[in-house]
Amino acid sequence: MAKEYEVVIGLEVHVELATKTKIFCGCSTAFGGAPNTHTCPVCTGMPGSLPVLNKKVVEYATAVGLATNCTITQNCKFDRKNYFYPDNPQNYQISQLYLPICRDGHVDITLADGTEKSIRIHEIHMEEDAGKLVHDDWEDCSLVDYNRSGVPLIEIVSEPDMRSAEEVIAYLDKLRMTVQYLGASDCKLQEGSMRADVNLSVREKGATEFGTRTETKNLNSFSAISRCIENEVARQIDLIESGEKVIQETRRWDDDKEYSYAMRSKEDAQDYRYFPDPDLVPIHISDEWLEEIRSNQPEFREEKCARYKEEFGLPEYDINIITDSKKLADIFEQTTAICGNPKKVSNWIMGETMRLLKEKSMDATDIKFSPENLAKLINLVEGGSINGAVLFIWLRLLLLI
Ligand SMILES: [Zn+2]
Repeated sequence: MAKEYEVVIGLEVHVELATKTKIFCGCSTAFGGAPNTHTCPVCTGMPGSLPVLNKKVVEYATAVGLATNCTITQNCKFDRKNYFYPDNPQNYQISQLYLPICRDGHVDITLADGTEKSIRIHEIHMEEDAGKLVHDDWEDCSLVDYNRSGVPLIEIVSEPDMRSAEEVIAYLDKLRMTVQYLGASDCKLQEGSMRADVNLSVREKGATEFGTRTETKNLNSFSAISRCIENEVARQIDLIESGEKVIQETRRWDDDKEYSYAMRSKEDAQDYRYFPDPDLVPIHISDEWLEEIRSNQPEFREEKCARYKEEFGLPEYDINIITDSKKLADIFEQTTAICGNPKKVSNWIMGETMRLLKEKSMDATDIKFSPENLAKLINLVEGGSINGAVLFIWLRLLLLI
């Protein structure tokens, strides 16, 4: 009889925080820009430069921790993770090893069949992003852009609690939604503001010990993550069945070719010679500050869904689509407040707006029209001054302005 296997998955999710400036200097975090124009002596690792912590990073990290049921480490600090790579000009990354800002949380997910499950969060820590290497095969050289160097990140490390690609996607979606509602990041996988590394092992069903795990990087869409998980599960089972060993290593997923390859053997923390960063003072989050952050937490998706049902009497289908993006929910609420017709507003958002976004491959966060303008247009249709077709043309124009 064929053996049955169980998949064990843990995730490390990096989220770029939506601060205007970098974590330890005043350089802009804006995406894009000519190479090396958002840089200064601090984020290019010049000798003698000193980092100064951006307070907003601590607030965002704490807010995400509170929203994911973590305990906040009110006295924490930064450590240096030492390694050499050309995209890392200091030869160390400022991160947190010993006292991460958030610990022991959990995120509750609901699967398609209605099953509910709690995924534990081991920790969330703050760190800085590295620069970007551009390999130029034509000129046979590599170029480096430090615009991203020093952009603030949080790394959300889960426990190995997930057992399928479906659970992984449900967990990531919940995280993405929570962080977006907090305004802590736009969480765009395709632009790298949310990145997931998948730690995966398989074991025989019923076994209590974990198998050897691999870590796969470079996953920039939910569908790539699903494909990578399926592929890695099959690869590991093949190895085990043919009597070979799974090697603990870091792998890279090539989504075009739909296969992964080994990058390097997996490092342990001791390989990085972590030590407390002597240039930064310890962080103290006072009870008052923590309370202030807690009291500023927004209405999250579940609460919004319940309120939309109660206050506007919207069908569940509409509610799910509108609350799938904080931006759409904001537009819906503000437009409804002006024109007072929730179902009409919902129809225009779900129908024509979503159709246009899809057609232009745009994200809800790219919507530029204002709730005032949408409300005016809806009122014109309702009053009979223009018809739906004209409104659709206006929406199309407004979306592009
Ligand atoms: Zn800088």
